[in-house]
Amino acid sequence: LLTLAIETSCDETSAAVLKNGREVLSNVISSQTELHKKFGGVVPEVASRKHVENVDMVIQEALDLAGVSFKEIDQIGVTYGPGLVGALLVGVSVAKAMAYALNIPLIGVNHIEGHIYANFIEDPQLQPPFLCLIVSGGHSHLAYVKDYGEYEIMGKTRDDAVGEAFDKVARAIGLGYPGGPLIDQLAKKGNPEAIYFPRVYLENGSLDFSFSGLKSAVLNYLHTQRQKGKEIIVENVAAAFQQAVIEVLVNKTLEGARRKGADKIVLAGGVAANSALRQTLKMEAEKIGIKVKYPSLDLCTDNGAMIGCAAYYNYLKGYTADLYLNAVPNLKLGEVYENKTNYPQ
Ligand code: ATP
Ligand code: MG
Ligand code: FE
Repeated sequence: LLTLAIETSCDETSAAVLKNGREVLSNVISSQTELHKKFGGVVPEVASRKHVENVDMVIQEALDLAGVSFKEIDQIGVTYGPGLVGALLVGVSVAKAMAYALNIPLIGVNHIEGHIYANFIEDPQLQPPFLCLIVSGGHSHLAYVKDYGEYEIMGKTRDDAVGEAFDKVARAIGLGYPGGPLIDQLAKKGNPEAIYFPRVYLENGSLDFSFSGLKSAVLNYLHTQRQKGKEIIVENVAAAFQQAVIEVLVNKTLEGARRKGADKIVLAGGVAANSALRQTLKMEAEKIGIKVKYPSLDLCTDNGAMIGCAAYYNYLKGYTADLYLNAVPNLKLGEVYENKTNYPQ
């Protein structure tokens, strides 16, 4: 069974072809990072327009690389939320047109579910149940994955997402965009003990996260140092900030695993690419006999392959969509699209 997957939720135009859910035949990613850099972040309208320009080419390249023609595709998966509405609409419109023209099933995929499923591509043996820490540009969830498509959200951020905090702190210390990978690199040269930033655990027993206070603490620190005319060692700021984030993420994740008796922890989302998070979580979890999995770096950030994998498992569950499928900017993990018609069966 061949799945064509399309992802346009943010600033990556991506298309992939997968065989039976986990075998990636192609995964073409056209990133708009360079385009948005000068604005210091993604400009939604610019992103939508670029998706329109790119999407046909990206799909054609994915088919060419996979060595398959349009006619051989059995189903189409597309991200329909969460994300930027104008950006999502590009992928959704193209996917609907293709599914209609080819008369094949259309599957609406949740982008965050896609991030989780990147792990199934990486490890063909991986099966639920497991605990998943999802840390991306717009989301931070601690979710227990009971089965394919079945999630229990144990905790989530109450303010900023982890990736957002990385990007904002990076901007404040004068790094470029996106800031996450730059902080990761810079932190390797810094001393995490040089500055103490708060670890926010919220009320007793809560597995929710909060990162806006930490972000403010970093901004305050920078401001105070500047006012006093003191030197700012950006490597130390990066390392201390990153350490504060990771400590909370790791402790809450291990507590979640303990509550569920989970023997596997899976990392997902763009921040899963963070080298210190990968190392620390793995080291701490292994001490108590829990295995840790994470995707390779190019499957952590947005890509079509993870959407194709999620589409395949949704298809097996019978979650196909009709042509009323629309972009849902604030789609929740675990929400299933309800058809208005019987097309296609
Ligand atoms: P979402 O998936 O929540 O809709 P998104 O798709 O914009 O948001 P992703 O592509 O999943 O986000 O991840 C991008 C985020 O990951 C950015 O905030 C980026 O800074 C962060 N990121 C990428 N690599 C690293 C890294 N090595 N360390 C820390 N953060 C990173
Ligand atoms: Mg992006
Ligand atoms: Fe994402």
